[in-house]
Amino acid sequence: MEINGKLLLAGLFADEIAGVIEALGEKAYRAKQIQQAVNKGCEVEEMLSLPGKIRESLSHRYITSGVKIDKCYVSALDCTEKYLYSLYDGNLIECVLMKYKYGSTLCVSTQVGCRMGCRFCASTLDGCVRNLTGGEILGQVLAANRHIGEKDPNDKVHNIVLMGSGEPLDNYDEVVRFLRLVNQKDGLNISSRNISMSTCGIVPKMYSLADEDIPVTLCVSLHAPNDEIRKQIMPIANAYSIKDIIKACRYYIRKTGRRVIFEYALVDGVNCSPANAAELASILRGMQCHVNVIPLNSVKERNLNTPAETTTNKFIDALKNEHISVTRRREMGDDIQGACGQLRRSHIREDKSR
Ligand code: SF4
Repeated sequence: MEINGKLLLAGLFADEIAGVIEALGEKAYRAKQIQQAVNKGCEVEEMLSLPGKIRESLSHRYITSGVKIDKCYVSALDCTEKYLYSLYDGNLIECVLMKYKYGSTLCVSTQVGCRMGCRFCASTLDGCVRNLTGGEILGQVLAANRHIGEKDPNDKVHNIVLMGSGEPLDNYDEVVRFLRLVNQKDGLNISSRNISMSTCGIVPKMYSLADEDIPVTLCVSLHAPNDEIRKQIMPIANAYSIKDIIKACRYYIRKTGRRVIFEYALVDGVNCSPANAAELASILRGMQCHVNVIPLNSVKERNLNTPAETTTNKFIDALKNEHISVTRRREMGDDIQGACGQLRRSHIREDKSR
């Protein structure tokens, strides 16, 4: 896919880069040099292992990914970094880098905005502007690697979560392309085991993904124990029932051997009573799964609130008592608008008010 008239080298597999080099009439080993430079996040003009005339020919048609870090915010609370990226066509997306003892995890975006309309999410407030290409999703990882590598050459992204703005399964082909690109031996070689993908539950695509032989961890944004409550906060619940989502999850577990993670944002007065916990436990009992409980990160534009600490703790304890594997997800980067979509929106607002 072209972005402002350019193709993305980061979006090409090794054999496709070889095809580009062949078409230019250059020697085959130049393709490897391009791949190595792309892996480092170099722009075409920075690919100094190539002769100037190849760089010149490439630059007419190609850029690396067009993804650049415009702004970086570092949390004073936990060293989480939030990046505001600009794309080659001027659109903005955001990414979060979380530092853990076992390595850095990057949360990438898959669309500019999102059309799923979840009521607790800032990413969807202006709808979906466009899908990102596989090369642009990879470009977020390349730019983050380059940024953190400047401070510490041994630091790089170890794990990737597709949980930024966008519904990954609503951009299925480009997301699958990204998953295969990032996994390439000649590329960043990040294993599917180090990748998690969230979905609000687009059931047919969950089956398709299970059949792709890319066993990423699937994280299903459930957020409700029954369809009635789910419809209040997630419009997708009008298309797919919890029963169908659970059936698709069981298929995913069978095909990939991976447990499924259920994300459950606690919204005060909506989905976090002890009865809600009991109903959730009854749906998940006996399943190879884990529940991530997340006290809602309030979004100003919506009238949905974080529950009290005691409500959160009681909800978690109720699941534990029912022998459901559950943890509370650590809220990271609260001081830098860590929730998805907040930073991009506030930046667009700032720009408009100038
Ligand atoms: S939570 Fe995910 S699927 Fe729902 S609107 Fe936000 S980005 Fe889209």
